[in-house]
Amino acid sequence: MDRPNAIVRCLTEKMEDIIRWGCVVYDIPILIVNTRWSFSSRYSTSSVSGSQLKYNAFFSLYDTLVTWDTGGTFYESFKRVKDDPIIGTFTGSGLELLIALICHELAHIFESISLQESWFPTKILQYYDRVPKKSKMRHHHNELWRIIYRELKTTFMPASPRIESVGEVDLVSIKNPTGVDFYAKHLTLGSR
Ligand SMILES: [Zn+2]
Repeated sequence: MDRPNAIVRCLTEKMEDIIRWGCVVYDIPILIVNTRWSFSSRYSTSSVSGSQLKYNAFFSLYDTLVTWDTGGTFYESFKRVKDDPIIGTFTGSGLELLIALICHELAHIFESISLQESWFPTKILQYYDRVPKKSKMRHHHNELWRIIYRELKTTFMPASPRIESVGEVDLVSIKNPTGVDFYAKHLTLGSR
């Protein structure tokens, strides 16, 4: 299998696993993640945007393509993160570098969902035994994001076997020319 296809397959499977896990663990009723990637752009590593149910994730996979066979170093350049033993800069296989990228970005999505919790019935703050911040100001790579990132990386790295406890979440992944759209529904929450 050629490299881009292998990378896209790994990215899709890992995204599916983490989205399913998040819907169950955090009681997220519905989550849509429109995912795009580029193998040529080096401008940004990755990013997410969106609100509540629907998010966009972008992955620049140039570095992943270059290091896929040889492995390399994953750089976390943010001051609060780079020296962290779990989520900091590390050297690993191409697959591990890709998983770190996915965990970093999905942690942003889950942390963002937690901001809506007073009216959106998820349990991210409760799960981590935290209270909502009084101030609306928050650092992009804040403490809760780091806690979620650590949990995702511990759970999904190294390349763990695929999680099979998936009956509770109905997930559809639809390919398009520049990415994959994920539509997840947490079934046990749908009737409340
Ligand atoms: Zn970030």
